[in-house]
Amino acid sequence: MATIADMTATETQLPDAPKQRDNGHRDMHNQFQLLRRVMERCRQAVVFTDSENIICEVNDAYVAMSGFSREEAIGKPPSIGKSGRHDAAFYKQMWDALEQENYWEGEIWDRRQSGEAYPKHLTISRLLDETGRVVNYVAMFEDLTEQKALESELERRTHYDSLTGLANKVLFRNRLEHEFRIADRRKCNVGLLLLNLDRFRKVNENLGYVAGDRLIQMVAARLTENIRKTDLMARENNSMERSADTISRYDGDEFTFILADLAAPENAAIGARRLTRAFETPFLIDGQEIYLSASIGIAVYPQNSKTLEGLMCCVETALDDMRQAGGNNFRFFSEAMNQSSNNRFQIESEMRRALASSGFALAYQPKIDLASGKTTGLEALVRWRRENGSLMSPAEFIPLAEETGMILPLGEWILETACRDVHAINQHQGLELSVAVNLSARQFQYGQVPQLIDRVLASTGLPAHLLDLEITESMVMQDVETVIATMHAIRERGVTLAIDDFGTGYSSLAYLKLFPIGTLKIDRSFVKDIETDPNDANICDVTVLLAHKLGLSVVAEGVETAGQLNYLLSVGCDQIQGYLISKPLPLTEVEDFLRAHKPSTLNGTVDLWSGDLAD
Ligand code: C2E
Ligand code: MG
Ligand code: MG
Repeated sequence: MATIADMTATETQLPDAPKQRDNGHRDMHNQFQLLRRVMERCRQAVVFTDSENIICEVNDAYVAMSGFSREEAIGKPPSIGKSGRHDAAFYKQMWDALEQENYWEGEIWDRRQSGEAYPKHLTISRLLDETGRVVNYVAMFEDLTEQKALESELERRTHYDSLTGLANKVLFRNRLEHEFRIADRRKCNVGLLLLNLDRFRKVNENLGYVAGDRLIQMVAARLTENIRKTDLMARENNSMERSADTISRYDGDEFTFILADLAAPENAAIGARRLTRAFETPFLIDGQEIYLSASIGIAVYPQNSKTLEGLMCCVETALDDMRQAGGNNFRFFSEAMNQSSNNRFQIESEMRRALASSGFALAYQPKIDLASGKTTGLEALVRWRRENGSLMSPAEFIPLAEETGMILPLGEWILETACRDVHAINQHQGLELSVAVNLSARQFQYGQVPQLIDRVLASTGLPAHLLDLEITESMVMQDVETVIATMHAIRERGVTLAIDDFGTGYSSLAYLKLFPIGTLKIDRSFVKDIETDPNDANICDVTVLLAHKLGLSVVAEGVETAGQLNYLLSVGCDQIQGYLISKPLPLTEVEDFLRAHKPSTLNGTVDLWSGDLAD
C-alpha cells in the first residue's frame, strides 16, 4: 500500500521539514510516521502538492473517492480530476484567495477516474516557509454525492407529490406568487385553473384505492401532455402562446394549473379547453376502459383578486359553480369573462368551419402610381361573412385567429389565394401587377414564412418580384435579430417587403435602416386629416422625405379626397391607395376595374381620373 513513509525528506517539502533535518533522521522519521497515520485515518481525501502544484502524496481516502491510484496521481497536477463544469473565473477566484489568504474553501465538481462527475467540499491550504516561499499545497475534500442526493430527495418530498411526481401545494403557491410578480412587470394576466375529476369518489369505491391511485397517475400524465411547455413546443403545436404552464397536484383528485403570461383573461379558456382533451379517450385499468371527465374553475390575476388567498377563493367558487351545473366543463369566476369567452369560442368555432368550407374571401384594393397614373398592384384584404350574414372586420378576427393559432392555416390560404388570383389576372390581361399581402405578427414569428413563400410561388406560378409582403412596425420590433434574418430570407427569394401603418408604431429610424424593405405605407390616420391638421401633414411630409433618403418608396393609404391627393402629390408621395381610387373589390369586379381604368391608358396626369373615381 502506498504510504507517506515512502517519501524522502526532500520529496515531501513539508513546512517543518528543514527543522527536522537539523534534529536528525530519527525525529524526522517519527514525524512522518505520525503524519502518515493521521493521513491514513483521515476520512477526508488528502492531497499534497509541491510548490509547482504537482501531486506528491495522496491518502487512501483520495484513492477510494477519486478512483485514481496513488501511482496515477503522483507527479500529475490535481487537474487530472477536473470536471470541466467550472469556468476560468471560478478558478481565478480560487487562486486569488490562495494568493491572498493562503486558503480556499468551497464546493466543486470534479471527475473520478471512471469519468463520472461528482460534487465535493474542498479546502485548500497554501503552506509557506519562514521566508514566505510556497512549499506545499494541502487539499482536503469530502464527497458530497450522497449529501446532494439527500438534499434533492428532501426537496422532492417538500415540493413534489409522491404519487404523481407533480409539483405539490407548497411549490404551487411559490410559483403562483412568482408569476404574480412577473405579470405585474409585464402587465399581463395569470390564469389560475382548478380541475377536479367528476365523480372520482365513485371510481375509487368501485375499483379500490390502488387502482384509483394508478388512475390519478395516468390523469396526471395526460394533463401534463396537454399543457403548454416551451416556446418550441408552442411552435410545434402551432400554438401562439409563449410561456410554460405549471401543473400541480393540489389535493386528492384536484389539480391546479398556472397559465402564465396571458395577453387577455379570456385566453385562460384556451388552456382549459386544451386540458379537457385529456379526457377525450378512456383510461385503461386492468383491461377495463374508464371514462372520466373533469370540472374546471378559472380565476384570473389581477382582475379577480390580487392576492393568492383571494384568487384561490375565486377559483374554488368557480369550480363549485361548475360542479353544481353538472360538471364536465370549465367556468370563469367572473360572469363577464364567461360571456366573453363563450363569445370568442363561438367565433373561433365558426372561423374553423369557415376555413374548412371556403367561408373566407379576398377583396383587392388597387394601388396607383402617382407619376404615371397607372395601377401598379393590388392589396389583398381578407373578408369574412359570418354564419348570421354579418361581415366581421379583419381588424377584429385576425387578432383572434392569432391567439388560437388559426392564423397559420388562414394566412397560408390568404397568401396562396392572393398569388393565384393576381397571377391569373396578369395572365388574362397581359399585366404585371404586384400583389400585396398582409402578414400578421404571429404568422411572421412562427409561420416559417420563407418556406411558405417557396411553396406558394411554386404552386401558383406568380413571379417572386410581384409579391410584396406588408408587415407592421410593432411586429418587427420584437426580437429584432430574428426578424431581420427572416426579412433577409424573404428578400433573397426576390419578394419585397413593405412596412404597413407607418407612423403608428415605434418608427425607429435606427432600425428602419437595418431592415431590407422597399416601401413605407403611411397610415390612414395621418392621411385623414392631412388638409386640416398641420401635424399630420408634417408627418406625411417628413415620412416621404425620410423614405426617399433611405431609398424607399412611399404609399399613402386611405386617400379619400382630391384635396388629400393633391397634398400628397405636392410632397412627392409615390403611390396611393384609397376609396378615391377604389374600395377593396371582390375578385369578380377587379378585372372590370382594370378594364375601365386600363393601366396603360392612364397617361400620367392624376386629374384625369381623380374626380370621377371618388365614390
Ligand atoms: P391595412 O393592411 O392597413 O389595410 C387597409 C385598411 O384600410 C383596409 O381595411 C381597407 O379596407 C381600409 N381602407 C382602404 N382604403 C380606405 C379609405 O380610403 N378609407 C377608409 N376609411 N379605409 C380604407 P380592412 O380591410 O378592414 O383591414 C383592416 C386591417 O386588417 C388591415 O389594415 C390589416 O392590418 C388587417 N388585414 C386585412 N386583411 C388581412 C389579411 O389578409 N391578413 C392579415 N394578417 N391582416 C389583414
Ligand atoms: Mg396592409
Ligand atoms: Mg395599413
